[in-house]
Amino acid sequence: MKPFDSIEELVEKASSVLGELDPRFAELVLQLNERRMLDLESRKNKSPGGFCTPLPVSELSFIFMNASHTHDDMLTLLHEMGHCIHNDYKSGIELSYYRETPMESSELASMTMELLTMDYWHHIYPDQEDIKRAKRDLLKDIISFLPEGIKVDQFQHWMYENPGHTQEERMEKYLEICERLDPGVVNWDGYEEARKAEWLFILHIFEVPFYYIEYVIAQLGALQMYKQYKQDPEAALKNYKRALSLGNKQSLQEVYKAAGIKFDFSPAMIKELIAFIQDEIEEIEHA
Ligand SMILES: [Zn+2]
Repeated sequence: MKPFDSIEELVEKASSVLGELDPRFAELVLQLNERRMLDLESRKNKSPGGFCTPLPVSELSFIFMNASHTHDDMLTLLHEMGHCIHNDYKSGIELSYYRETPMESSELASMTMELLTMDYWHHIYPDQEDIKRAKRDLLKDIISFLPEGIKVDQFQHWMYENPGHTQEERMEKYLEICERLDPGVVNWDGYEEARKAEWLFILHIFEVPFYYIEYVIAQLGALQMYKQYKQDPEAALKNYKRALSLGNKQSLQEVYKAAGIKFDFSPAMIKELIAFIQDEIEEIEHA
């Protein structure tokens, strides 16, 4: 899928989608663009990755990413805009310390934003089939990401708890965790060596250890937000904004409570959310 040809088109489409949720969200992305606070296009020698960082003087945000004109780029910009919107709500907080939120709260803002925009992806794709495919992919990716995140977290814990391990033990440990958490859908026979080294592609293990589990926690929150939005869009959006504007003034539990969701990663909660995703995928397929 090719959602946009130029960066201008990417920004315009993101603004149309975000505007369906709140005019301020649309205005924000246009403002960042006008004020040259977006560096979206990939180019030679540009650092990899994507992030959003607050700009304390203008009280706006700067977004950096490496767009190569794919659907993922569209999703990344909507995700980073979730962080930008969070910064916008936090800008009213006087104590700067309270504006710095833990990852479970920051990623709740951004991961929720990806899901809340789904109903408005007709602004991105004129073709109904493309919209269906994009939605299905996002939901399926969530299901496959959850065990992935747990795998990475367990692997890191083992590495730090066993500093004397050898390179070979490290590879074997990763394979063992993979096999333990594997749903058995993919046949890896003959590719064990490649599988052992899979973790080498994960930037977080090297740069921000123990960050990965935060995505899992935030994703479970974002799914609850999306479920709430499906039931009552107006109330869910109000709760979302209320939670975001708390910043770090209150505990994570309180922030999640303000969002109308639970800070809960119990088997029961995971089961409930996965069942919800399954229903959503079925609904999309029959639409
Ligand atoms: Zn993020």
